[in-house]
This record gives sequence, C-alpha cells and structure tokens, in this order.
Amino acid sequence: MTNIDRLLTAVPTRLWIDGAGADPLEGASFPVIDPATGETIAEVADAGGKDALRALDAASRVQDEWAATAPRERSRILRKAWELVIARTEDLALLMTLEMGKTIAESCGEVAYGAEFLRWFSEEAVRIGGRYTEAPSGNGRILVTKEPLGPCLAITPWNFPLAMGTRKIGPALAAGCTMIVKPAEDTPLTMLLLAEIFAEAGLPAGVLSVLPTSDAAAVTGPLIADPRLRKVTFTGSTRVGKLLLEQSAQQVLRTSMELGGNAPFVVFDDADIDAAVAGAMTAKMRNGGEACTAANRILVHNAIREEFTAQLTEKISAMRIGAGYQDGTDLGPLINERQRSAVAGLVDDAVDAGARIRTGGRRVEGPGYFFEPTVLDNIPSDARIVREEIFGPVAAIIGFDSEAEAIATANDTEYGLAAYFYTTNLDRALRVAKALESGMVGVNRGVISDPAAPFGGVKQSGLGSEGGTEGIDEYLTTKYVALPA
Ligand code: NAD
Repeated sequence: MTNIDRLLTAVPTRLWIDGAGADPLEGASFPVIDPATGETIAEVADAGGKDALRALDAASRVQDEWAATAPRERSRILRKAWELVIARTEDLALLMTLEMGKTIAESCGEVAYGAEFLRWFSEEAVRIGGRYTEAPSGNGRILVTKEPLGPCLAITPWNFPLAMGTRKIGPALAAGCTMIVKPAEDTPLTMLLLAEIFAEAGLPAGVLSVLPTSDAAAVTGPLIADPRLRKVTFTGSTRVGKLLLEQSAQQVLRTSMELGGNAPFVVFDDADIDAAVAGAMTAKMRNGGEACTAANRILVHNAIREEFTAQLTEKISAMRIGAGYQDGTDLGPLINERQRSAVAGLVDDAVDAGARIRTGGRRVEGPGYFFEPTVLDNIPSDARIVREEIFGPVAAIIGFDSEAEAIATANDTEYGLAAYFYTTNLDRALRVAKALESGMVGVNRGVISDPAAPFGGVKQSGLGSEGGTEGIDEYLTTKYVALPA
C-alpha cells in the first residue's frame, strides 16, 4: 500500500458534529478530486440545513460551559492541538497536496504556518484584558470587561485548507467561543482531519463542528438566520463576502471578512534587482499564485524593467510542472477547470489587448488542471488582468516612470489587501509604505503572512484582522460595568 492509499483509507469523511463523526440527515456524499489527475480521491458526507442546525444545537448547548472554562485550560487544549498538528505534518501535508494541488514542500510550510495560529492563540487565551478607571467626574468607576461573542460560523476557501481554518478556530476557541466550520467543497478533508486532532487534544464535544457540503448556502443560510449564532467569519471572494454581509445584517451579526486582493508589487529603480526578482518569485508563485496576497500587478521602473523581466522570466520558465506529491515539482495544478479557464481567459484577454508573452501562456494538455508558469509584459492599462485577481501562475509586468505614478497605479484598485515594494532608499520606503492603500505592506520582502501580525485588508478586501494580538478581539465583545465611586 502506498502512503497515499494508506492516508486516504484512514481519512475521516463523515460530518463532524458534537465531537463525533456523523452521517447527513438528508443528502448523501460528494467527490473530492485530485486536481493533478482529475480523479476522485474520496467521497465526503454532504451536509444540509438540518445538519447545520444540529451543529448549532451542540455549539449552543456547550457555549456557556466553554466560555466558563479556565483560560489556562483553553490554552492547554490549543497548545496540545498545535503539538499534534506538528506531529502529523506528513499526513496533513500529503492530504492538502492531494486535495488542493500545491507541492509537498509548500503543504509542509502551510502545516507549520497553520499550526502556529493554535500556538499563538494558546498564548493569547490567558491574556484577555479589560480596563478599569475612575470616571472623570469623580462620581463613578468604569469597569470594562471582554466576553466571548458566542457561537461562530467560519466559512473558508480552498487555497489554504488548513491555515484559513486555524486562523479562525485558534482565536475563537481562545476567546471562549464555539465554532462551526464550513470548509470549501474542493478541500474538506484537511479540516475533517483537524477536527479529529482537536478531539484527541481534549476539546470538549460540541465546541468545534465541521460541515463539508456541496451546497454552501444550504448550510450557511439557516445558521446565519438563527438568533443563536453571533458571528460570521469568512475568507473568500469579495462577491460572496458581500452576500454574507447582507445576510448577517438581518441578525446584526459581528463579521470578519478576508476577501479578494489585487496586490501591487512595485520595483523602484534603486532596488536590489536580484532581491526583487527573488521576492517576486515568492510573492507571485507561492501556492501556485492561488493566494489572496499574490503579486497581481508587478510594477517595474522602466529604467530596469527589461533587466528585471529577463531575470524573472528565466526563473519562471525553469519551473517544473507536475503533481505536488511528485519529487522535483515546483508548480502543481490549479484547483479545478473553472479556475484554469478563468486564468486562461485573463491571459487571452491581455494578449488580445496587446500584451506580450515572455514565457508560458497556455494550458498543459493531458489530465489535471495545469497551466504553464507565465510572464506577460507590455500590458495595456485597460486589460482585465490589471483589474481582476489572477489566482494563477501568471506574472503581469507593467512599467512606470516615477514614484508618484507607481503609487497612483498601485492604489488604482477597489482592493487593498497586500502591497509590496522594493527600494534601498529609506526615505522612499517610509513615504511609500504610508501612501499605499493596503492593509498590509511588505518592504523588500515577498512574504508578509505571520501569525503574530494582524492580517487584513482595507477597501473591498475586507473587514477586521486575523492573527496578532488583534485577532482575538474579533471574537470578544466589550461590556461596560458602571460602579459607584
Ligand atoms: P469563494 O468566495 O467562492 O468561496 C469561499 C467559501 O465561501 C467556500 O467555502 C465556499 O463554499 C463558500 N461560499 C460560496 N458561495 C457561498 C454562498 N452563497 N453562501 C455561503 N458560502 C458560500 O472563494 P474561493 O474561490 O474559495 O477562494 C478564493 C477567494 O478567496 C479569492 O478571492 C481570494 O482572494 C480569497 N481569499 C482571501 C484571503 C484573505 O485572507 N483575504 C485568503 C485566501 C483567499
């Protein structure tokens, strides 16, 4: 039996409700596909609205008890879950690669990154503060406490099947909230395995449920409409985020929204070009380009544009395409045919408008959803690729002549999640970091995500922060207690 067969035989595929595997009350199962082959690797239980309410019954039943559990005990369970996730790195990484497509090295990186949210928030669980002060009038005292919001719903995307879950589960559990996770339909297996790991870590039944489904709205709709739910935390597209915000308004739910991006990656003429090329490789090609923080528009000063583009093209054209679990692969498949068609459509549109292909540009024939690693330059400003999230291995290079032009172009988007720039001039670094309309800015760096830092966007990239000391506040509500003087 190969490692893959062994893993897939043991992987949980039932719903996870009230601390145990459960069969759906209605509906049957749906397939999980290996994007490298297009073949089914598992059949997963398909939750419906009634299952969602079972999970919410369990979450509501144990909410008060979990909120009253000593912070040190909540912390201990999260810490134990971190240890167990790290101990299961090999299985979790292989599972992620099988259902999502990225390389094993990248999946191992995600396990370390995703697990770190559990360790980080295990440390935050015991530091939930408050405030005490005397009223300025002298006739009262002000006590401010932080309390858990209550049952939360997390809806996660397929591109980081573990980390987009732990980034929400970690702070929710640390704060004393219960949580129901609806993972993306393309990648439900990793989250189901994580639920089992949490049970092994000692998490009481009902605190965490996981509901894979082929019909997201059928599961999330009844939950969002139920007055027992207190929060929706979502990572995904801006389109779906807006829908969820509208629905959440009916019960005035707290929301966190980590939505789409259109990150500019700016290379000034005083940049260290080698470092900028290395940074662009990471910012563009990490996760096969399927990241909300991916460099979507690479803006390069015209004086160095050709040198930068030639170096980047050389590196990108040398990437080896293959299944993520094959040795030597640098770039795995895209998640599905829909995503591959979307990427191909953006490339075709740019080329029709006058862009030049420096390398790649086509689908790879044969099984799986592979697309060639691609570099485009001479991109006209009205091409769709300039406005829309690429979510694929396509580097789009655009020239500029001045700092003011670069900043104006960088900010000319409805999104504001991540931005990157390369310069060796400190004054410029401070000036540009301030001028960029973005929730996160990388200076001479191609990676910015860090569990200890607040992750979040401005404009249509979202609301709220995940990670850092800020992340737990998203699961706490403020209570003011007025005391006599
Ligand atoms: P998506 O919005 O299609 O799906 C995200 C999740 O929402 C999935 O679980 C999906 O099943 C669910 N969903 C879809 N329609 C729904 C509905 N009507 N009601 C309730 N739930 C629904 O996004 P995707 O294609 O899975 O992920 C890619 C998107 O996610 C990109 O736009 C990317 O930028 C964004 N993303 C953002 C961040 C961030 O932190 N800002 C991180 C990763 C991905």
